[in-house]
Amino acid sequence: MKIIAIGRNYAAHAQELNNPIPGSPLIFLKPDTAALKDNRPFYLPEFSSEIHYELEVVLKICKEGKHLSEKFASNYYEEIGLGIDFTARDIQAAHKEKGWPWELAKAFDNSAAISHFVPKAQFEDVYNLQFELQINGETKQNGNTKMVLFSFEKIISFVSQYITLKKGDLIFTGTPEGVGQVFQGDKLEAWLEGQQFLNFDIK
Ligand code: ZN
Repeated sequence: MKIIAIGRNYAAHAQELNNPIPGSPLIFLKPDTAALKDNRPFYLPEFSSEIHYELEVVLKICKEGKHLSEKFASNYYEEIGLGIDFTARDIQAAHKEKGWPWELAKAFDNSAAISHFVPKAQFEDVYNLQFELQINGETKQNGNTKMVLFSFEKIISFVSQYITLKKGDLIFTGTPEGVGQVFQGDKLEAWLEGQQFLNFDIK
């Protein structure tokens, strides 16, 4: 299983980090060792002093595909969940400055908190999904998939031109505005269309 993530897929988030809006999807990967499941706690790593949360809608790939057209791309995911793309923002900033890749900032152990998944068929419109992150009961991010710059079909098609998608792969589809730092003792809770999907602690 691999985790494919999209950067800057919500304009307001790109702007809050002073990044340009990309002309094509910006992709990075996390290995399977990044997965943090079952609401297990996230332990702040020693190597960073600025870990950020990024709440994202996550698609689960349901069959192998390569060179997919946008027209058929929606057949390649059946389930949706939520995830937190934990990011070592201090390391990312230093690496951006040097033009280095982002892996140490994005792909470290447990950097992808992942919820359970539900059938996409349970939602009327995957482009009108409201998702929200609360930390210690306070709303920090409140997004809607109608604001995406690149559709799920576009992302699946685009990635599959370069990287074969396999059953069980996960796609993190980008975060809305409101990202920020997590601290020891924080409780993170996230909802998708009013259902709770994540509820775990920062240690
Ligand atoms: Zn992200």
